[in-house]
Amino acid sequence: MTKPPLRILLCAPRGFCAGVVRAIDAVEKALAVYGAPVYVRHEIVHNRYVVETLKRQGAVFVRDLDEVPETSAPVIFSAHGVPKSVPEMAGARRLFAIDATCPLVTKVHREAEIHHKRGRHVILVGHSGHPEVVGTKGQLPPGAITLVETVEDVERLPFRQGSDLAFVTQTTLSVDDTREIVEALEARFPGIAGPHKEDICYATTNRQGAVKRVAPMVDAMIVVGSANSSNSQRLREAAERGGCPVVRLVLRAEDIEWNLFGTVQRLGITAGASAPEVLVEEIIDAFAERFSVSVESVSTADESVFFPLPRQLRDQAAE
Ligand code: SF4
Repeated sequence: MTKPPLRILLCAPRGFCAGVVRAIDAVEKALAVYGAPVYVRHEIVHNRYVVETLKRQGAVFVRDLDEVPETSAPVIFSAHGVPKSVPEMAGARRLFAIDATCPLVTKVHREAEIHHKRGRHVILVGHSGHPEVVGTKGQLPPGAITLVETVEDVERLPFRQGSDLAFVTQTTLSVDDTREIVEALEARFPGIAGPHKEDICYATTNRQGAVKRVAPMVDAMIVVGSANSSNSQRLREAAERGGCPVVRLVLRAEDIEWNLFGTVQRLGITAGASAPEVLVEEIIDAFAERFSVSVESVSTADESVFFPLPRQLRDQAAE
């Protein structure tokens, strides 16, 4: 039986960012140098496939440090960053801590600290409960940061005009939503201090840019990623807002609802910053079993960002 034709447009850039590559490399390097187990606080990145793969290699994932026994094994902090209390507790317990926080998240932590030292109250634009938000709030004493998630939250802020305020943002937000929230902040508090260049990272910006280009060109879009990945959820939203009628966030090929894709002729595929390319390939192969596929890349930005391993592992690499 002849298969129906399907044109696949692959968004580029997609998938792993430099911070995720560094965090995964850190766990693999620690396993290679120190052997199993290597403890990892929280999912190293928000992708179950990555986490399960590292588990099979000897990584032990814990929710918090109190689940780590007295050990000389490395304890790695995830790419999302941690509150200051976490490295402090690791130090008090003399654990061998390796911090895989993405340098672009650390940059936001330092911005928040500088604003606080200058006497400013910090407004954090982000999603409540996300590990990055928990980590950023935990850089300052309780009450020094106020979280806003929406323009309505900005309107409800209890500060007066002229208050000494600053804002920082989560790195993985919607570029468009964040612009609106920042505009609302600047309209209500004209003197508010902010980053020279926004805190949303290059990877988030570029992946959303590619999706915006492809969404109006296709009948359906698949975003490869985990439901708890902020970055991936924002890609899903960008595709929907871009006018794509069918958009699904899937972890793997087995999650595809095939009844939605039966009559599709042009399919967009992208992947969140924590989704490995092997899963994109798995999904293309699954479509190739049902369709006669042609694949082309639609590129909207070049990326060459690279972050070296955390210091302790760099030293080991040199030895
Ligand atoms: S999404 Fe951005 S901030 Fe997060 S790990 Fe990747 S590069 Fe770093």
